[in-house]
Amino acid sequence: MTIVPLPDAPGTAEHLCLALANSVVTLPGGQQLDELDSPMNATAWLVGHGLAPHGTGLLEYCQLQLTDLRRKLRAVLLAHAEGTAPDPDSLEGINRALSAVPSAALLRYSPDEGLNRVASHPLTQIVDHAMAQIAEDAAALLTGPDAARIARCASEPCDRLMVRTHGRRQWCSARCGARQRANRAYARKKGSAPAPDILA
Ligand SMILES: [Zn+2]
Repeated sequence: MTIVPLPDAPGTAEHLCLALANSVVTLPGGQQLDELDSPMNATAWLVGHGLAPHGTGLLEYCQLQLTDLRRKLRAVLLAHAEGTAPDPDSLEGINRALSAVPSAALLRYSPDEGLNRVASHPLTQIVDHAMAQIAEDAAALLTGPDAARIARCASEPCDRLMVRTHGRRQWCSARCGARQRANRAYARKKGSAPAPDILA
């Protein structure tokens, strides 16, 4: 099946944290579309969002760091959208990313070279820096003037997150809105039976 990419959910272009949160989406039929499903794709995502220079090649370890932050970010954003308390582990993960901004090269000593300054692994620095920027954006969004408009798309099974642009708009895209309307029309016709995913 060819999957046509969805247009960005509202707020995604302005917020790195939503871009990361929405890099995995559940499609009608239940399958997941994951933009970070390999080190190569995770690299392309970072480069595409201006978070890593061209020519970067992520290792699997870095990809897993990024998907781990995404999981925690989604948990905190969803809890916020539902008006519940975030789980401490997810909050802690965001705070770790916030505070892991690479610092200056450290002072080391070796008998051969004496004192010298060594930067940590450059690739790790790129990923740490990217994650710090994403976490910073999340912290600002979740405590800023738009916090009350953070919502999950209301068109099941879509689980994208967004900043609602209009008070009544409950879905992330025209496609999700159309599916929701079709589902409602089908439900009205057939009682409470769920509609098939005719617009999948
Ligand atoms: Zn949606």
